[in-house]
Amino acid sequence: MKSTSSPELSFDQNHIWHPYSAIGAGQPVFHVDSAKGCTLTLKDGRTLIDGMASWWSVIHGYNHPAMNDALKKQIDKFSHVMFGGLTHDPAIALATKLIELTAPELDAVFFADSGSVAVEVAMKMAIQYWASQGQPTRQKFISLRNGYHGDTFGAMSVCDPVNGMHSLFSSTLAQQLFVEAPATHFGEQASEDDLAELKACLENNHQRVAAIILEPIVQGAGGMRFYGADYLVKLKALADQYGVLVIFDEIATGFGRTGKLFAYEHAGFTPDILCLGKALTGGYMTLSATLTQRKIADVIQSGEPGVFMHGPTFMGNPLACAAGLASLTLLEKNDWESKVSNIETKLTKHLAPCRELDGVADVRVLGAIGVIELEEPVDMKTIQPLFVEHGVWVRPFGKLVYVMPPYVMTDTELESLCAAIVKVVTISLVKDMPVLPPTKRTSAEKTI
Ligand SMILES: *Cc1c(COP(=O)(O)O)cnc(C)c1O
Repeated sequence: MKSTSSPELSFDQNHIWHPYSAIGAGQPVFHVDSAKGCTLTLKDGRTLIDGMASWWSVIHGYNHPAMNDALKKQIDKFSHVMFGGLTHDPAIALATKLIELTAPELDAVFFADSGSVAVEVAMKMAIQYWASQGQPTRQKFISLRNGYHGDTFGAMSVCDPVNGMHSLFSSTLAQQLFVEAPATHFGEQASEDDLAELKACLENNHQRVAAIILEPIVQGAGGMRFYGADYLVKLKALADQYGVLVIFDEIATGFGRTGKLFAYEHAGFTPDILCLGKALTGGYMTLSATLTQRKIADVIQSGEPGVFMHGPTFMGNPLACAAGLASLTLLEKNDWESKVSNIETKLTKHLAPCRELDGVADVRVLGAIGVIELEEPVDMKTIQPLFVEHGVWVRPFGKLVYVMPPYVMTDTELESLCAAIVKVVTISLVKDMPVLPPTKRTSAEKTI
């Protein structure tokens, strides 16, 4: 196989772990040489249209001149200083921008290193909020089944206990409270059933619950499920009734992905704590932010020890903050809303043929997210190289073939991406069917 022939690739396979992978197992990895716009170029010269935006993050495309420029300028000033006792323009400017873009109540910002850490920070905020008020027994979190919140221990504890990829660690993890995720779809009213378990859980446990944590509107890595805003409105009413905080994990949905700048806007209320990550720096640097309301920060700080207890070494890294600021500036300048809406229209139209295939359970699109849910899990070993042969980068998991392209993807690229998906899904569902030759790409596409 071409993709495993180089000495570098063989070194990689025998010495380097990739996400959820095994060293030495010969799982295919593809060697990227360069990336620009929505195109990845492999070492062997093949080009791929990127349907993944590198896991939701590269919203402006790769190698963007304005992003590159912002980072180069910051490098020439300084790349890092500690955030303990020091501050700098990139952190101040990015926090200002985040406060401006989110709801007026969210005016206190904690910069962390990754999405998982943003979730840890949010959970610690909630626990300290109650401890400061003489309620140290409020240490539990209510979370939805099929949720995904990250890979560190606190974050793992609120991921789906069965399909959350973490069941191996269950006896080490804090035991949290889980309720069924809403069964109603996006755009639908929540049913009594959707909320019954949550209601009972709050009734029985509210004195030991610090917060409810969930991904609003879209459950990402736990199943790519879309659900209605009405559920969130009703959840918020219950949270208020029982006096527990609401944490929204918008690490995947933030910055326009669902068609609103933040998914909580679909529901029309502001969470107590908001986690952001992934697209925050346009995929340039790892950075996340946990936002809360000043009145919550004040409560946290009113108790012992009078401060919020977290502070990573690379907190507020200037390069990462400069990337964040440049990314958010581009987002506003480039009319993300019409771009996302156009992607929604195109994905809806061009993925529709998959609906007709035997073995496809559902095709759904929301904002710049397209999902084909199959009846059986895909065989990654065959489907991944097949996507590459067809000139696209799509990385399915389980029964889900899904895309969340960069917002700058052109109509031609979107059409080619979807055509390749329809073709590869068709091939993979028909047993013993000879592999079709890859789609020829036009010269116009190659120059993008
Ligand atoms: C990706 C993700 C995380 C974890 O972020 P990392 O940067 O991978 O640590 C947490 N929550 C949600 C909803 C995510 O999509």
